[in-house]
Amino acid sequence: NTSTAEQFDLVVVGGGPSGATLAALVAMRGHRVMLLEKERFPRYQIGESLLPATVHGVGKLLGVTEELEKASFTKKLGGTFRWGSKPEPWTFTFAISQKLAGPTSHAYQVERMKFDKILLDNARRVGVDVREECSVNDVIKAGDRVTGLRYTDADGIVREVSATFVADASGNRSRLHKNTGGKRVYSEFFQNVALFGYFEGGKRLPAPRSGNILSAAFDDGWFWYIPLTEKLTSVGAVVARERADQIQGDPEKALLKLIDRCPEVRDMLSEARRVTEGTYGEIRVRKDYSYCGTAFWSPGMVLVGDAACFVDPVFSSGVHLATYSGLLAARSINSVLAGEIDEKRSFEEFEQRYRREYGLFYEFLVGFYDMHHDEESYFWKAKKVTKANTSDIEAFVELVGGAASGDSSLAGMRLEQTAGQLAAAVDSVGVEARRDGEQNAPLFRSAIVGEVMQESARVQARAALGHALNDEDPLFSGGLVPSGDGMAWVVPAV
Ligand code: FAD
Repeated sequence: NTSTAEQFDLVVVGGGPSGATLAALVAMRGHRVMLLEKERFPRYQIGESLLPATVHGVGKLLGVTEELEKASFTKKLGGTFRWGSKPEPWTFTFAISQKLAGPTSHAYQVERMKFDKILLDNARRVGVDVREECSVNDVIKAGDRVTGLRYTDADGIVREVSATFVADASGNRSRLHKNTGGKRVYSEFFQNVALFGYFEGGKRLPAPRSGNILSAAFDDGWFWYIPLTEKLTSVGAVVARERADQIQGDPEKALLKLIDRCPEVRDMLSEARRVTEGTYGEIRVRKDYSYCGTAFWSPGMVLVGDAACFVDPVFSSGVHLATYSGLLAARSINSVLAGEIDEKRSFEEFEQRYRREYGLFYEFLVGFYDMHHDEESYFWKAKKVTKANTSDIEAFVELVGGAASGDSSLAGMRLEQTAGQLAAAVDSVGVEARRDGEQNAPLFRSAIVGEVMQESARVQARAALGHALNDEDPLFSGGLVPSGDGMAWVVPAV
């Protein structure tokens, strides 16, 4: 029983962070957007430790920053690692990076049931036609072009919908991703298995680290220990596939046995009890989760989030890559729908930027899994991979904070930080000035002040023009840059 097709500018499959971000950012430009989600939210998902770029960059564009702040998620100021050749734990804070410093130098540890619902409700609020309990079965094609979808609605009726663009945001179990003509290539390096559950009454690191993610390596792999609320902790073991025999049989026994082998996590849980009921009562297993597709788009279709690629969770990059790819795809779709940039050029920009960000995490993580080094050499590796023009530790924090792309929308917090940074810069540069016996010149030579002055010029231009100047350099030769509002691409001024 097939009904007549409705018509949309964009239909998104999946209401997780990638789909909800993309759908909202296209609807906010006045386009007709539908989102089909097979579950009814709230629904469970793993991936609870976020990065500042998601919270303050994409979150700001979406208009959810305040709502996230009010949701009382645990504030994450950084990460604490028992990792590498040194036996003592080491900690990084986001605040150490200039790009991330200031009032926005934190992320959150989130219960995904709550976080994902905030993003999906926001999409609905900005005009997306969100339909839950609708499961997409297949794409519809006309020649090489994807032109719509076939789905089963909440009443079990099979329907068709036509769309100028279809986005697959249906996650790691996507059935649609092959329709771009690509295939999924699984990483030979990251062949891990994760086993995870929830505990109440776990200890917290001493303040100000109490909201940090704790990642602890042990003989069989590593653990994440994520403080979700005052009481609730998410605990997961990641072991190499060759050691997967450790997690055969009763999953509870296997998890407890692994915890026993990791002194840091065993100590943190010494007075805790495992949650055994409700959504958090289940012990879950995930495997084969590091992969990358060979084609992120084809005419009429684009892949975002886990549908496109995913790399090992040690630096919590999943939701960042999901929301960032949602933003990149939204720019491409908005530009094409407005008739400003042709499809090929627009989506090539999307794919190149997305692959670059994924590649940075991938390359860095390969080095990070080598336990024979200390943290200094991991920081150096981050600088080498990102080719950043900063100190090693800043390069590391920018990468693991999601700010390595230099995309001004992800460091979108910059505008708010301007005043604070200026004050700090004037203070520190003032000292330098006195030392130099000069009053002003060093101030203007300072990188921060230079940026602040540029930023105020941009603000004034934005006010005068009704939009911002385009002042980002393209990431690739002949490439595009984000529009002033961050929602589309523009050809850079020569
Ligand atoms: P999803 O969140 O998977 O959303 C996809 C949605 O599509 C779902 O709601 C699903 O119901 C819907 N859907 C699926 N099929 C259909 C269909 N046919 N029709 C309609 N709807 C459909 N990330 C982090 O940022 N931090 C972490 O700490 C972290 N830890 C992780 C630990 C492990 C072990 C693993 C495996 C991953 C972890 N991740 C982490 C990654 C994170 O889970 C994902 O990257 C993130 O959820 C991807 O978001 P998404 O929107 O692409 O997909």
